Amino acid sequence: MLKRLEIAGFKSFARKTALDFATATTAVVGPNGSGKSNIAEAFRFALGEQSMKSMRGKRSEDLIFAGSHETARQNRASVAIVFDNRKKIFPKLDFEEVTIERAVFRDGASEYSINGSKVRLRDVQELLASANIGETGHHIISQGEADRILLASPKERRAMLEDALGLKVFEFKKQEALRKLEKTRENVREVESLRRELAPHLKFLAKQVEKLERAEELMRELAEKAREYFSIEEKFIAVEKEKNAHEMRNTKERLAVAEGELGAFENETSNESEGMKRIEAVRLAERDLDKVTAERSELSREIGRIEGALSEAKRRSQALAREPYVKVPREHIEALRDEVEKQTKHEDTAEPSALLASLKSLRAIVAAFFERFALPTDDYLAEEEQAVYRLEGEKEKLLEKDKDLEARTDAARSTLQKAREARMAYEETGRETKVRILELAESRAREESALAREEARARELDYLDEQLGNERGEVLQLAGSAAFSYEPLETLPQEDRKAQEDRKHTLMRLKIRIEEAGGTGEEVRTEYNDTKNREEFLARELEDLSKSATGLEQLIDDLDTELAKSFADGLAKVNSSFGEFFTLMFGGGGAKLALEEITAKVAEDEEDEEDEEVASDAPAERTERPGLEVNVHLPKKKLQSLMQLSGGERALTSIALIFAMSQVNPPPFLILDETDAALDEANSRRYGDMIENLAKKSQLIVITHNRETMSRAGILYGVTMGNDGISKLLSVKFEEAVAVAK
Ligand code: ATP
Repeated sequence: MLKRLEIAGFKSFARKTALDFATATTAVVGPNGSGKSNIAEAFRFALGEQSMKSMRGKRSEDLIFAGSHETARQNRASVAIVFDNRKKIFPKLDFEEVTIERAVFRDGASEYSINGSKVRLRDVQELLASANIGETGHHIISQGEADRILLASPKERRAMLEDALGLKVFEFKKQEALRKLEKTRENVREVESLRRELAPHLKFLAKQVEKLERAEELMRELAEKAREYFSIEEKFIAVEKEKNAHEMRNTKERLAVAEGELGAFENETSNESEGMKRIEAVRLAERDLDKVTAERSELSREIGRIEGALSEAKRRSQALAREPYVKVPREHIEALRDEVEKQTKHEDTAEPSALLASLKSLRAIVAAFFERFALPTDDYLAEEEQAVYRLEGEKEKLLEKDKDLEARTDAARSTLQKAREARMAYEETGRETKVRILELAESRAREESALAREEARARELDYLDEQLGNERGEVLQLAGSAAFSYEPLETLPQEDRKAQEDRKHTLMRLKIRIEEAGGTGEEVRTEYNDTKNREEFLARELEDLSKSATGLEQLIDDLDTELAKSFADGLAKVNSSFGEFFTLMFGGGGAKLALEEITAKVAEDEEDEEDEEVASDAPAERTERPGLEVNVHLPKKKLQSLMQLSGGERALTSIALIFAMSQVNPPPFLILDETDAALDEANSRRYGDMIENLAKKSQLIVITHNRETMSRAGILYGVTMGNDGISKLLSVKFEEAVAVAK
């Protein structure tokens, strides 16, 4: 309940002024212009009123004490309302006393606080709504505004009633839910747009990943096929190489043997001098024989000549023996002998021609001797005999020599014979060797070509090895190390080489297909997963948002239903009270609030603002809730329009309605600023009765000049204003009050 009002610097209340509300009804009295209404406005202000007009001002400044010629103006106006919260009229606040304060400054800034803590206006509004102190001000009826509810539009009237019925809480909740719903829908649109944006990218990435997976499948296949191919190829090459090496070794051995044999023969025979030697031997033997033969024939000629000379000498000696001797001095003979000896000294060793020459010269010497000395015959005879002797000796010697030559000829002939035989023997052996060499050479050539074939094969195998290396490099690049995780083969499969070539072709085809599949990298998968996660996240988000939107829609529906139900209940209750109060005031008749006919009338009302089509085509579909009409039925008078009521009648009707509304959902307090101004004495009494009745449920603050009203108040405050333009407050007795009010 209301405990106290504290005003400072607000309008005419320059000084800090406090009003205690210890009783059910408090009356504020005083002369015109003293500042009574400022008190009602102080309430409005503190409760968060935003309309300057309803506080009779244009700017915030107008709410601050403006000063007078005696007192300076102030810069701050503040009003605090203190509530007794022991009965928990503010259920959320665990304080015995709750103070709501608002201050305004000349720059227009407002400050709100609850129990000294700064808060937002909204916090104040929510707090008040929770205690059924609404913002439409139905609990503060300003001066001359009693019939505001009658003059208001049906929609405003409905809002006032909803406020009075405490349905603002629902309205707040609904507004909040609508805001959230709008925000949620915005989020939904945002998420949907994000998903739409993401969709083509995701689709693209999915295709890329599909490609990648296809390529990976091909890679796996390649790895598998490559393992088979490599293991076989490796084994094949190894086996072939070994075979080849073995064959080569054998061939080389055989070749070495062939070469060795051939070499040996050639060594023997390539010694050509052996043949030459034998030929030379034959030639030398032939020459020897020729020479010795020539020598002998020379010798036989010499012998013939000697024999001739001998027979001459014999003949001459016989002749001399018949003729006288020629006497030759001794010394000449000796000289001749010396000469002959000199000439024949070397005849044993001399060549036949030399011998011949020597003989010729000897003859000449002898002839010259005979010419010079015409030796006597006897000398000659002796000499001739001597010559025969000598010649015979010579002949003897030559015959000796001839014997010797004969032996030599025989020897030469025999030597030649042997040389010829040796040569022939050599020629015979050569033929066999040549045949053998030919065979060996053939065999060598065979082994050489075999070796050449094997070397070619070795090169071929090296080439295969190299190719395999290249192949492995390519496969490693395309299929990774998985292509090499295999055990070496123990044995080669029993198949022909074609099978392996087919495998090689398969590898090639796979490689081409992998290359065609495109080189999308691993990062595509990461991006795809990220994007997919994001998409899924967005989908979940969307689902959550949709759920929360549905939840909010449901909440709004529920609030609407509850609101509609509470409103209908409240309206029925208000109508019943309204009817009672009305009958009481007017001594009969009746009044009620009725929901306006929404169709045609609303359509007409809205015509100017709204699209005509909407208004005329689909009026029933409008979500607009119907406003409230006031139907009155005065006793003894025909039903007339509200506007045709008198001022007093209008005041009574609105008072009845305000009171009825307060009855149904009593606000903690109600401020009535000269609501009773237009009442005559009889109605003032009825008004007084109603106030007493009303005060049982709500605290009342009545600003009044009415004596009857004053008489119903427990506390009376007199407001006065002196020359200083400052409102002053004083507690007064009923009797004083009547005087003060004048
Ligand atoms: P009535 O009985 O005739 O309705 P009242 O007692 O309700 O009169 P108010 O209307 O509350 O009187 O008071 C108006 C008085 O307050 C005027 O004298 C006006 O000059 C004074 N006033 C209003 N605003 C300010 C302000 N900002 N500073 C100083 N005085 C102000």
